[in-house]
Amino acid sequence: MKDNIIIKIRELTKKYGDFTAVNNLNLEIYEGEVFGLLGPNGAGKTTTLLMLLGLTEPTKGVAEVNGYDATKETLQVKRIVGYLPDHVGFYEDMTGRENLRFIGQLNGLDHYTIEERIERLLERVKLLDVGDKKVGAYSRGMKQRLGIADILMKEPKIIILDEPTLGLDPEGVKEMLDLIMELSKKDNRTILISSHLLHQIQKICDRVGIFVKGNLLAKGPIETLGEKVFSDEPLTLEIEILPLDDRVKKLLNSINGITDIKIIEGKIIIQSHEEVRKDLVKVLSQNDYEIRYLKQRGRELDDIYSRYFAGKE
Ligand code: ATP
Repeated sequence: MKDNIIIKIRELTKKYGDFTAVNNLNLEIYEGEVFGLLGPNGAGKTTTLLMLLGLTEPTKGVAEVNGYDATKETLQVKRIVGYLPDHVGFYEDMTGRENLRFIGQLNGLDHYTIEERIERLLERVKLLDVGDKKVGAYSRGMKQRLGIADILMKEPKIIILDEPTLGLDPEGVKEMLDLIMELSKKDNRTILISSHLLHQIQKICDRVGIFVKGNLLAKGPIETLGEKVFSDEPLTLEIEILPLDDRVKKLLNSINGITDIKIIEGKIIIQSHEEVRKDLVKVLSQNDYEIRYLKQRGRELDDIYSRYFAGKE
């Protein structure tokens, strides 16, 4: 059970002069979960992460990381948190191995531990064969994976990733997401990801928060977010079946909860006040209809995202 709160944010606020970058943020992150802080550019995601890391001071409020005050106990927080910024800075004229060795030394690890971790981590992030190549010659995807190896050198309990998939090609995105999943599911680390690439990130998040103009508009698992946002609106289902005959409307009308049925361009559009997909599939298949396509509209993260943004932009 993921019920142990590891990051606790209370009324966290950051102002730059009159401008509020983060407004009264309240959020808990549970141990072992992958949490996605999703929002457009300028929403205040990076500012939030920097406050969690003690790299910028809040104007108001508190962030507690594993029980430590992120502003006052920065060293303790640094010890348990690995941070991958959106632009990773490596020494380009040093090799991947040399960069990791340097990080190990900065973290005060002994020689044996450093060398053992370098080999294990290079293998883990699939860079073993290029470990002795200069980082300047690495692709963005390779640099990002080296960034993961870099933060794993100190075996952090919590990993904070700022736009980890930005600028990666599809293969690079997949490798990165697989790696992040592994860090969560295999290692049981807590992962906080900030991103504006919701399609990519939502796949691996246990919960997400929608962040717009410094405000957290909604948080929770993606499925329940949909319920929260659209609770007052009917559900819309789009179906294609064969054969599309006169009898089908009558059959669908017999299903409890359906409030409207329309046939538009060969598609049946159904509105209901409750979930009817299970009953619908049952009735149609019992009556020998072939379902070619079935989609519930208006409950995707995309819909949530555009809904929130449309009202707030
Ligand atoms: P991005 O992905 O573009 O970085 P973000 O959600 O991470 O977006 P932040 O970088 O946190 O957003 O920025 C939030 C807002 O605060 C932006 O409008 C930005 O211009 C402003 N801001 C950030 N840092 C400063 C600063 N040092 N001084 C003044 N304004 C700042």
